[in-house]
Amino acid sequence: MVKNINKNIMLLSCKSKDAAIEDSEVISDLKDTLSANSDRCVGMAANMIGVLKKIIIVNIGSINMIMVNPEILKKSGEYETEEGCLSLEGVRKVKRYKNIEVKFQDEKFVKRVRKFSGFTAQIIQHEIDHCNGIII
Ligand SMILES: [Zn+2]
Repeated sequence: MVKNINKNIMLLSCKSKDAAIEDSEVISDLKDTLSANSDRCVGMAANMIGVLKKIIIVNIGSINMIMVNPEILKKSGEYETEEGCLSLEGVRKVKRYKNIEVKFQDEKFVKRVRKFSGFTAQIIQHEIDHCNGIII
């Protein structure tokens, strides 16, 4: 189901809790909501649709990848950039890393470790920040 985008800063500032198999509905809601906003949005965290669980979705070309309980294990290549967010107005300066290694569960809750770089890595860092209650 397509959900409304949460713009409540208090809620967005809360840390999300670990997600489990019973949160599967959140996964389909994130897919639907990202698809509905694909013209202006490349990723989303569950708290952006009002659910305080560690689930993010990241657009990689034609695929929308779900990451459950994502955690950055390694990072390198710090740089400064500007980002926007569907939950906020305008853009803000932020520090990101070019290369990251992330531990997560996929949408079938299978544990994975993968390396990402460039723009995909940037989106993942932005969405993981959301899970930790950090807004750009
Ligand atoms: Zn955001």
